[in-house]
Amino acid sequence: MARARHAEIAGAGFAGLAAAAALCRRGWTVRVHEADRELRAFGAGIFIWSNGLRVLNALGAYADVRAGAFAAPAYETRTDGETLAFEPINGPNRYRLLTMTRQHLHAAMVKAARAAGAELVTGSEAVGAAPEGELHLADGTRLEADIVIGADGVRSKVRDSLGIPQERRKYQDGIIRVLTDRTGLKGGEWDHVIDFWCHRPRTLRILYTPSGENDLYMAMMAPVADKEASAIPVNPAPWIDCFPQLAPALSRLGDRGRYDAYETTRLPTWSAGRVAIVGDSAHAMPPTLAQGAGCAMMNALGLAVALDETHTVEEALRLWEARERPLTDHTQRRAAEIAASRVLASGMKWDDEGLRAARHVPTGADMPLDDR
Ligand SMILES: Cc1cc2nc3c(=O)[nH]c(=O)nc-3n(C[C@H](O)[C@H](O)[C@H](O)COP(=O)(O)OP(=O)(O)OC[C@H]3O[C@@H](n4cnc5c(N)ncnc54)[C@H](O)[C@@H]3O)c2cc1C
Repeated sequence: MARARHAEIAGAGFAGLAAAAALCRRGWTVRVHEADRELRAFGAGIFIWSNGLRVLNALGAYADVRAGAFAAPAYETRTDGETLAFEPINGPNRYRLLTMTRQHLHAAMVKAARAAGAELVTGSEAVGAAPEGELHLADGTRLEADIVIGADGVRSKVRDSLGIPQERRKYQDGIIRVLTDRTGLKGGEWDHVIDFWCHRPRTLRILYTPSGENDLYMAMMAPVADKEASAIPVNPAPWIDCFPQLAPALSRLGDRGRYDAYETTRLPTWSAGRVAIVGDSAHAMPPTLAQGAGCAMMNALGLAVALDETHTVEEALRLWEARERPLTDHTQRRAAEIAASRVLASGMKWDDEGLRAARHVPTGADMPLDDR
């Protein structure tokens, strides 16, 4: 009997875990190296559109994800106190868009990867890779594999060690992500996702996001130049000034939160030899379409499918990039345009340009979602 093919993966984030589960489910042996001492997700909450939910379904993680996620009935935009857009979601024939804590999504994906047979090693930092199919660890170990996957995020050491040039771009805004509780903010309009914008006395935005029975995620956008509003710990004064209706939640944030400026990473190629670069390491994008993790998971699953369909790893990597990249490139481009123009202040556009990825049926995920 032929030996199972083997993958070494750097990074147990959404991309690395999706690749691990997808490959194991296709008969591969997989080891994932996570630099952190614990398996955990950074950031607060996350939006997962239908495309990402379909991938989770194909990985055996959807039932667990759905169980602790929030299905808001509507998505609104309110700018300077006026409702500019109102879109029902999650009902019959509506967009499926679940919100949840990152920890909830991550735990469900860890469970799915382990159930599929992946080995997850914590405290194991990757420092590079060789195109012949070798992962290099910080302790000097060199591990051979049929494929190496660099899923080690936006500051990927695997990518950088291969000398793949990067185009990086920063934008004028960034986001503080905080998780708090929904005390006093439940039922009726408080069950909606509400994109609050304010232009006077300054430009700020809060994407108010119920993310579970008791969890409230707030993505608080402030210009990089606005030192007062982008400060951590959050300085509630400028935020309450713009969004007095959210004062109860804003005044109990304490020292929680982190500020990340929007950024884009673009590579001329997603692979070198037998090394694939997957997720933010290949295509970080501003969060304006909430598709970074969606694209990361789609591309991880798409890679496993391409490896199944071809005879050599090199052939698979060519097929994979040709098939998956156009949608990711489009999504990244559109997310960047939206970030630069702040057009969401006039309401989310529920059109093909913005929602092409959300409407997409990912490679290997054509099974409909079981929502009974
Ligand atoms: C403000 C903000 C909001 C966002 N909101 C959304 C959203 O709502 N929906 C959505 O789909 N996307 C969203 N995104 C994008 C999403 O967070 C990313 O696209 C996603 O996390 C990428 O997953 P990843 O696995 O590629 O990288 P990461 O999540 O960064 O995971 C990388 C993993 O690799 C580990 N690691 C790093 N270096 C090494 C190393 N050298 N060796 C071993 N391990 C290493 C890290 O510890 C981490 O566990 C948002 C991003 C931002 C900044």
